Amino acid sequence: MAGKMDISVQLFTGSCTIPAELNLQSITSKLKKILKKTKITNAIIGWNPNSTHLSKHSFAHNDADLSNIVSLLKSNGADVYLWLPIFSELEALSDFLPIMGYENKKLEINYYLGNGENFVFCCPANSENVEKVIETFEKYYSEGIYDGVFLDKIRFPSFIGGLDSVLGCFCDYCRSTYDLPAIQDLHITDSINPLGISSYDNLRYVVNGAYEKLFDYKCEAVFNSLERLCACFREKGLKIGFDLFAPFLAYFVGQDYHRLLHLADFVKPMFYSLTNAPAGLPFEINMYAEAFDSDGLNAKKRKDLFLDYVGYGDSFIESEIAGIRKAIVDSSLTTKLYAGIEMNYNEHIAPVTEEYIQDSICKIKEADGIVTSWDLNTTPDTHIDCLLETVGDFYGR
Ligand SMILES: [Zn+2]
Repeated sequence: MAGKMDISVQLFTGSCTIPAELNLQSITSKLKKILKKTKITNAIIGWNPNSTHLSKHSFAHNDADLSNIVSLLKSNGADVYLWLPIFSELEALSDFLPIMGYENKKLEINYYLGNGENFVFCCPANSENVEKVIETFEKYYSEGIYDGVFLDKIRFPSFIGGLDSVLGCFCDYCRSTYDLPAIQDLHITDSINPLGISSYDNLRYVVNGAYEKLFDYKCEAVFNSLERLCACFREKGLKIGFDLFAPFLAYFVGQDYHRLLHLADFVKPMFYSLTNAPAGLPFEINMYAEAFDSDGLNAKKRKDLFLDYVGYGDSFIESEIAGIRKAIVDSSLTTKLYAGIEMNYNEHIAPVTEEYIQDSICKIKEADGIVTSWDLNTTPDTHIDCLLETVGDFYGR
């Protein structure tokens, strides 16, 4: 990267059911502060269907003001993307076929962020769900004025749903499409290296053969569903961005960068090193370690071994970025790599500091840019100052 880092912003307008309380004046002032120094490449805004100007169902009180924000962004050359969750969240708006755990039990993931956002997933493999996503988009979001769609939750659940959520899906569709091994057969000959990981290189794992088939199935399923969705959005003239797990976690939820990079205009790998919630690196690593049994000592050993295999250390994020970059170059793609760094502040979920922001930007400096994740509304002013200073320092602006 020579002297340039694109800045994109992300703004959460609330879940499908609960609109966020937006401080529009403060959001505007933060955007102006950035625009005074540099361009905003993309603005990712969503996904409350009632409170955003990005939806035809716009009847909330603050809609006119949000429309001013969208105008400000567009008049300054930013592309505005509708932030749209795909295989989770939309079930508040329509009926989807759920992801199933073992023995045909609906998979319960009791994890809520308290803002209406949840992590209940529908089956990403079943094409009926893909068609439902399109219907739901048409019904609630299709008359917006955005330039693109930013697709989130394009995956199977992670280890937060326990083993069931990673070793399935066990719905009828998946069972008929793929010969899923019985969960107890998969259940663990080596309790310290339960998936039989033997290497992680070039964004690819080598794991025990039975798991390899399973994860390949999931990666294939997510890719096929996204191929259909992206074709539909492209037909409408929309650009496409993807919210992705960091590569070393992505494989386990069905996200294969080597394939997905072909579908999007940009990808945002989430390098959330502080976030104590899904997609947060330490959080997901702990969920992996604890999913296999509740023995504290084993979990500790399992985690250490896993971190050892993936090479999780000081320059780990740099190596993940380099891996994505290589995949883009090797396939002669023009897909942009915009690293997601959390900049909002929440004492419990994202205790972000200025030092953390500086350090993170240093680590992702070989990316094409940064997405200031995941919510401009709750990003302190001082974090924006820190972003601009740090980017300025590194890139000589
Ligand atoms: Zn399924």
